[in-house]
Order: sequence, then structure tokens, then C-alpha cells
Amino acid sequence: MKETRRVAVLAGDGIGPEVMREALRVLDAAEKCYGFRTERMEYDVGGAAIDACGRALPEQTLRGCEAADAILFGSVGGPKWDSLPLDERPERGALLPLRRHFDLFANLRPGVCLPELIAASPLKENLITGGFDILCVRELTGGMYFGQPKFYGERDGEIIGLDTLIYRRSEVERIAHLAFRAAAGRRGKLCSVDKANVLSSSVMWRDVFNEIASQYPQVQLSHMYVDNAAMQLVRNPGQFDVIVTENTFGDILTDEMAMVCGSLGMLPSASLCSRGEKTFGLYEPSGGSAPDIAGKGIANPIAQILSMGMMLRYSFGYIEPADAVDAAVRAAIAAGFRTRDLATGAVGEQIVTTSGMGDAVISLLH
Ligand code: NAD
Repeated sequence: MKETRRVAVLAGDGIGPEVMREALRVLDAAEKCYGFRTERMEYDVGGAAIDACGRALPEQTLRGCEAADAILFGSVGGPKWDSLPLDERPERGALLPLRRHFDLFANLRPGVCLPELIAASPLKENLITGGFDILCVRELTGGMYFGQPKFYGERDGEIIGLDTLIYRRSEVERIAHLAFRAAAGRRGKLCSVDKANVLSSSVMWRDVFNEIASQYPQVQLSHMYVDNAAMQLVRNPGQFDVIVTENTFGDILTDEMAMVCGSLGMLPSASLCSRGEKTFGLYEPSGGSAPDIAGKGIANPIAQILSMGMMLRYSFGYIEPADAVDAAVRAAIAAGFRTRDLATGAVGEQIVTTSGMGDAVISLLH
């Protein structure tokens, strides 16, 4: 029997608890199938935590996450807390401090468009025949969002706004190694996106990637300017395997990628850091708390289920169960099961509730 892994479960607000319930049921089924065990501890976060104790990230939640091997996160926020000061709101008050506290420097977002869901993508069908499967690796703790100095005010008789785009070599090296390893475990193609024709930080970024490439002979490295990458993602997303980029570019490109995939409810994400030999991570759907559909039993739980699968893969190294979770989701879609967000009215579609989709995935997990 493998060692028991501890999971901090932070379901949060809106559809968070509904989709988390399904992810945990699928985890139960995977444990039975593959003979491993997890111990789950549930903690308040976001609006639910503000209501319970006045803070979006209570001390007890943070300590619980520290004691865990991974964090499975739902989503936070909603209109009820929108009038609070920005730093106290669920997202700013919980997610950003968690990222900072654990130095979660790498954000992995798979962008998968399954052949059966091509109609849900806004792209013309002839551009994405057969679907596509991209992994975007975004540097998450450096660059312009964190660089100092930052300033908004008067200088030399004029109002200015100032941000600093800075990368240290060590920051680029660690994200580069992670991206090369991710590409080595997939189709072996890594596209590094930068703006090396204009930005010094990008020239350094490109140099580091070129140097490190020799350590990964099985990976084919290419470079692309960010403006071209934004175009290529809507022209021919199927050309990409793994994309790696810095924080600001990644923020924009990952949303573009989510859009071309079709539904937000399908896209998981992982934010990772190293803990000695192990990879610690926060795993969450790419979408938000969807207050417009919360409590109706119609939310798509697939992004949360796939986030749980990423946890098995990256933090626990349970590759076979992780592959099985991904395969069960694909099989459920192939069999025609659709939550409302995925429905196109095509023949053979069966509209299911949130728990109905959970049932379908569990029945196809083996
Ligand atoms: P959203 O992602 O919550 O919703 C956008 C649209 O996508 C909505 O129509 C929603 O119904 C739909 N959608 C999202 N997930 C879905 C799912 N699993 N199944 C079916 N449909 C789904 O974004 P928003 O409306 O801009 O934000 C709502 C709240 O979520 C805000 O308070 C925002 O701050 C918060 N938010 C939280 C996170 C997070 O916790 N990481 C991320 C983004 C937004």
C-alpha cells in the first residue's frame, strides 16, 4: 500500500462546493481502483471564510495547507463580497496570499479541445479538425506584476504610472526546467514565448532557455514572439504542444487559450512549487465561482475533476490513476454526456446535472 497523502480541500464559494463534491467522489473511485489512499481535511476559504470568521484566508486554513501534501481548491468570490475593500475580497484575500506564501511559481493550464466538443469552440471547425491538446506553463511569481518599484503619482510636474518588469536568472531557470520536463512527458515540443525583439528581460529569458535545452535532447525547443503566439493560437492551435511564457504574457495567452477551447467548465489548472524532492501544488479550475448558476445543480464539474487528476499526476506521481481520470472524462464526453454549458443540441447528447456528470465519469473509470 502506498503512503497516505494529505489533501487540504478548500471548496470556497458559488459552484465550488458542488463541483468539489464530484471531484472527491471521483477521487474515492480512483482510490478503490488503484489501491492508494488520501486523507482529506476541509477548510473554509474566500467568502465562506469571511462569513465564518472575517478573513478570506483564516490562519487555520493556512496551517492546514502547510500540513498537507497538496491543496485542492474550488473557487472563491461572488457579489455578496464585492463591496469589501479590494485586499479583503475573496480572490485578493485568499488566492494571492496562498500563491505568495507557498511560492507557487509555475502555473500549468492544459487547453484541450476534444474532437466531440469542437462545435463549442468559437474557431471555425476546419481550423481545429481533430481537436487540440496544449499545455501552457506560465511563470507566476515574477515579472511586472511583482517587480519593484511600482508607482502612481506625480513626478517632475506630470502624473505617471510606473511598473517594473524584472526577471532574475534563477527564476527563469526553474520555470525552464519545469517546462522542459513537462514537454519531455508529452509530445516533446516546447515553444517559449517572449518579446526578445524589444525587452531585455526577454533576451535573458531566451538565452537561458537556449542554454538549458542541451540538457533535454528529447525536447525540440522553439521560440515565438508573444504577438505572433496570440495570432497562432487562433489560427492553428494544433501546432502547439507545450507553451512556456512569463507572467504577464501568460495571463493573457492562457485566457485566450481557454476561450478557443470552448467551455471554461472543462479547464483545470495547477500552480506548483518544489518542496525538496516533491512537488507541492494548488489545483483549481480555471473558471471562477459562477454565481449565476450556483446551487442549481447544473455546473460542469469536469474542470474540478481534472484538477484533482493533475494533483495525482504532479504532486503524488500517481501517473496511472491520473491517466485513468483523464480517460474517464474523455470517455464520458465521447459517450454523449453533457452538462448544460456543453450542450449543442446535437443528436446523441444526453444533458446531465453536476452529479450526473460525476456518475458518468465514475462509471467509466477503470
Ligand atoms: P466565472 O468563471 O465564475 O463565470 C464566467 C461564466 O462561465 C459564467 O457564465 C459561468 O456560469 C460560466 N462557468 C464558469 N465555470 C463553469 C462551470 N464549471 N460550469 C458551467 N459554467 C461555468 O467568472 P466571473 O463571472 O467573471 O466571476 C464570478 C466570480 O468568481 C467573481 O466573484 C470572481 O471574482 C470570481 N473568480 C474566482 C476565481 C477563482 O477562484 N480562482 C477565478 C475567476 C473569478
